[in-house]
Amino acid sequence: MVEVVIASGKGGVGKSTISSSISALLSHKNIGIVDADAEAPNLHLIFDTNSWEEEIEYKEKSVAAIDYEKCVNCSICQEVCTYEAVENRNGLPHIKEYICEGCGACKVVCPVDAVRITKNNLSGWIRVGRTRYGPFVTSELDVGQPNSGKLVTEEKNIAKKWVREGKIKHIIVDSAAGIGCQVIASMSGATYALLVAEPTESSLSDLRRVFYLAEHFRTKSFIIINKENMNLGFNGIMKFSEENDLEIIGKIPYDKTVAASMTHKMPLVEYDGNSPASRSIKEIASFLEDLMP
Ligand code: SF4
Ligand code: SF4
Repeated sequence: MVEVVIASGKGGVGKSTISSSISALLSHKNIGIVDADAEAPNLHLIFDTNSWEEEIEYKEKSVAAIDYEKCVNCSICQEVCTYEAVENRNGLPHIKEYICEGCGACKVVCPVDAVRITKNNLSGWIRVGRTRYGPFVTSELDVGQPNSGKLVTEEKNIAKKWVREGKIKHIIVDSAAGIGCQVIASMSGATYALLVAEPTESSLSDLRRVFYLAEHFRTKSFIIINKENMNLGFNGIMKFSEENDLEIIGKIPYDKTVAASMTHKMPLVEYDGNSPASRSIKEIASFLEDLMP
């Protein structure tokens, strides 16, 4: 099984365009697709998938809950909560769940043991469906919920189960941007990381960070430069790739067709397989194809 994660140090550099097109081009390789950006999932929009075979409630965040049968309304919990998650509502303490961090300080100080720390709070959803290119798992965090690596791990576990069951052979993961928990979970166990960057100093700085993360997990990295013709004088990424012995496997030109493909809810290579960006992505997919037995 080969697991390819498409990552970037920063959002908006074209990860989802590349992930969706690569998925479309490699569907004959028997792939499963994971959208691992639970804060801003968007692959389902590009795949035009909006009905789900399964929708699983995801509960991770701990929050305080007050037993009003026991509460003597002393306000100590309100005083102790540094997050200001307890407010007085109609003369009684009320937990603002979207602010509560579940730290338990209020439980410790409550004189009548009226506070419980519970995980019954809905944090988000994992959704399983199908695309024209293979089975698909995505997720969505509810507003104000913690950025969750566990959620991504659960998604990847579903895809790995498909591999064990012989339903798919390989996994494509569209990671969140940055180097946070979700990206760490995306990167963990991946065979290859495609690191997407734009030819700017700030994107290079972000690329460095996500590359070091991939190094930590001993994931073999490759670089893709998106909108490479927008700043032709910039050679920072080239230098970085040489210094770190990193292969640049694709240089994708700026292409207005990308926006049109999004509007039409189609992977770019399906919307216009001959556009300049499509042609570059096809070369990347063909490189990957050789790595997938
Ligand atoms: S668990 Fe912590 S954050 Fe939540 S209400 Fe209690 S003291 Fe505040
Ligand atoms: S500390 Fe306990 S008893 Fe006092 S207001 Fe809070 S929940 Fe009620």
